[in-house]
Amino acid sequence: MIKCVKCNAKYDDNEVIYNCKECGSVLEIFVDIDKSEVPKETFDCRKDTLWKYKEFMPVDETKIISLDEGGTPFCKCNKIGEELGVDLYVKVEGSNPTGSFKDRGMSVGITKASELGVDTVGCASTGNTSASLAAYAARAGLRCVVLLPSGKVALGKLAQAMFHGAEVFSVNGNFDEALETVTALALEKHLYLLNSINPYRLEGQKSIGFEIIHELGWESPDRIILPVGNAGNISAIWKGITEFHNAGYIDELPMMTGIQAEGASPITNAFRKNTMDMVPVENPETVATAIRIGAPVSSIKALRAIYDSNGYSDTVTDEEILDAQKELARYEGIGVEPASAASIAGLKKLVEEGVVEKGEKIVCIVTGHLLKDPNTAINACTKPIEIDADIEALKKVLLNK
Ligand SMILES: *Cc1c(COP(=O)(O)O)cnc(C)c1O
Ligand SMILES: [Zn+2]
Repeated sequence: MIKCVKCNAKYDDNEVIYNCKECGSVLEIFVDIDKSEVPKETFDCRKDTLWKYKEFMPVDETKIISLDEGGTPFCKCNKIGEELGVDLYVKVEGSNPTGSFKDRGMSVGITKASELGVDTVGCASTGNTSASLAAYAARAGLRCVVLLPSGKVALGKLAQAMFHGAEVFSVNGNFDEALETVTALALEKHLYLLNSINPYRLEGQKSIGFEIIHELGWESPDRIILPVGNAGNISAIWKGITEFHNAGYIDELPMMTGIQAEGASPITNAFRKNTMDMVPVENPETVATAIRIGAPVSSIKALRAIYDSNGYSDTVTDEEILDAQKELARYEGIGVEPASAASIAGLKKLVEEGVVEKGEKIVCIVTGHLLKDPNTAINACTKPIEIDADIEALKKVLLNK
């Protein structure tokens, strides 16, 4: 069943619908499972993908389109953790098939698209959604249309969208405007929209929450920190965690902590005023292009997640993001794109401010791979030193350092 998050209006699972017909608000899928029906041991000896939790995935099991997404690394990070005085785990979503967590949402979203029998899918994207959709649409044999904000998509993501055969359009405007345009096309039924306004996307992404709980031995961390752009992922993870809580697998719940870039922070602004009313940011700007979003479509769900979990939201500067990106790469060997590092930058800030307490068990989600944005990575480094192919030349430079 599909349900409106505001007025509780209900819709059939197979209705193609993106907003409530009664009140215009966003929708979510209702899933209710009891541990007596599905004991948690059920998940133990299955292959390590998100479909391990298929009982919680509201799609036709015989139609699954998958690239073995999910089951991503869960790395204990002692160097950064000890420096900050917390017990730190990093969930590395860049290890998904196309290099971001979007693959989880797309696997379920494209499975639903196949079930519905649509022939064209589409999205607006800051880059990763289009890379992922292009790959999954190719696998399902569907036509794929993507709209990207002109000049603001990282190189790796653009390469993926084009190479997997999507019809790529460069929009003169920002992400929010591109999304409005493609949504209008979807409402005229020219394509099936797979942005995170589509509630099936979040059904896949909630598996990040499932995996964290499972990895920690059926316990909740104290806090989950992640970057927030369109605000789908924080909503999805909270949905997953509450479903496991409702099923009776865990007793405690984590504080959901959303980090935004200073130049694109409508969710944090609302949190600071303790309101549900998100005011869009005009002309959002940040080096972290994946979260360069001014009017997040899932703001209601995200703010609910933050308030209901006694969580928090804060901003970080581009400089803090790039510093954290470098620290994660240099101290822990984990290469992420700038947006992902907002979680680590946010953790550092919240420890300084005393919001995060010493000894907390914290999971930071890092959302996309370093290679998504090679230009930013290269610009942050000094150029390689040129030498002749000769041992003496090499020794001269190396040993004099
Ligand atoms: C999409 C994306 C985000 C933002 O996620 P939302 O669900 O839009 O809040 C953050 N980081 C990366 C790398 C992304 O691709
Ligand atoms: Zn409604």
